Amino acid sequence: MVDILIKNAYVLTMRGEGVGMIEDGAVAVERDRIVAVGKTPDIEKNYRGADHIFDAKGKAVLPGLVDAHIHTSLTLLRGEAQDVPEIEWMLKTMAPFMNYIEPEHRIKGAKLGVLEAVKSGTTCFGEIGSDMAQIVEKVFIPSGVRACVANTINEIGPESRQDPNKPYIFFKDIGEEKLRESLELIERWNGAAEGRITCMLGPHAADMMSKELLLRVKNIAKSKGLLIHIHVAQGGREAIQIRLKYGTSTIRFLDDIGYFDEGVIAAHCHQASDEEVALLARRGVRYVSCPSSIGLIDGITPPLALFLASGGKYAALGSDQASGNNSHNIIKEMKIASFLNKTRHRDPTILPAWKILRIATIEGASTLGLGDAFGSIEVGKKADLIIMNLKAPHLTPIISKPVRNIAPNIVYSARGDEIETVIVNGKIIMENKRVLTMNEEKVMLEAQEAAEAITSKAAEDYMRADSHLAKAARKGLL
Ligand SMILES: [Zn+2]
Repeated sequence: MVDILIKNAYVLTMRGEGVGMIEDGAVAVERDRIVAVGKTPDIEKNYRGADHIFDAKGKAVLPGLVDAHIHTSLTLLRGEAQDVPEIEWMLKTMAPFMNYIEPEHRIKGAKLGVLEAVKSGTTCFGEIGSDMAQIVEKVFIPSGVRACVANTINEIGPESRQDPNKPYIFFKDIGEEKLRESLELIERWNGAAEGRITCMLGPHAADMMSKELLLRVKNIAKSKGLLIHIHVAQGGREAIQIRLKYGTSTIRFLDDIGYFDEGVIAAHCHQASDEEVALLARRGVRYVSCPSSIGLIDGITPPLALFLASGGKYAALGSDQASGNNSHNIIKEMKIASFLNKTRHRDPTILPAWKILRIATIEGASTLGLGDAFGSIEVGKKADLIIMNLKAPHLTPIISKPVRNIAPNIVYSARGDEIETVIVNGKIIMENKRVLTMNEEKVMLEAQEAAEAITSKAAEDYMRADSHLAKAARKGLL
């Protein structure tokens, strides 16, 4: 007798080098772990009964998806910041709202972001942001998901960025306070909720803090054995600042101060030259690519394929934030990542479906330093599983010979709403497409109210900032 038995499924285990398909497969789960994987008749011989039996005929079972770089707390700004020049995005579309965001808004936004992501199969969140202890306690733990979190550390205040072409003004006391909060987060929550919560250090970006604070964070990470999750080479604003302060590029600067090694997760890197991408790969840096977000905010395809071709070992996908993505949906992100990298290199063989599925699962988990714990369907691993119904016009037909079309169709045709069941750490958190750990209606209603509260306060500032989007709004174009 086990807790959960899933049978008659197409099981994409991610064992070996490809998707590790088992047709007519079954998975047995006891407590928080996978205890058996194989052909349904073989598994049923040993495990006849279970508290929950899922007959997954015509369905696919995959490891839960990993969104390795995400800011769920900004979900309330969905659709309020895109279609503007990159230099305007932070300063003219995000900043007017950020001044009015309170901790309670971040929590409501995070609930909405988690709800949205779980419904399209995300089980693990690589979250960076402010008020993280609150978000862990009030969102990640009760919703039942897995999260690798970091509090943002920077020295930026409301007066820091008056002019993007002048050096930002840093406030030491802000940096001290954020570092203290980060250490408290780690002390209190690292390893909490049966290991579902893992903490990291989150220096915001090389342009958002002094060299001294960057190095302090690096030393703390080394001494405590923690990973660092940092935005790297994330666009024109940062490039201007680093050049003004240090006379070089972000990646050269960070490498000069000894920042890059296997202990660093670098997000974005779309401003990196080809040589700099190769340098990151050589240093063993872990890379998170957010193609939808960077495509929308910067008009650039981040260098995922190039990083891997340069020998990069660990790479993952991230949805970044809803204010410039505008969704938290790794199923969609897989197609966009593959598609944009194919067009960037004019090579349709780049990032094939089986590889991108691995990046969204086992390699994503490894990027977060947790590939031994979850990310594939293997005996002894944590039971983070999703069941996807393939009975849909856009996923039909299912062919096994001469070529199995399930992996390509999941990557290039699925939408995310085919996910029916989500299991994290052996607990069913979504069944029949209903999230059991959250009141979906309430989450959406509260998010709507909170978003209206922020946007009504910020409306005047937003229009005064006069971004491309504000101009379009003034003309009644949207
Ligand atoms: Zn980010």
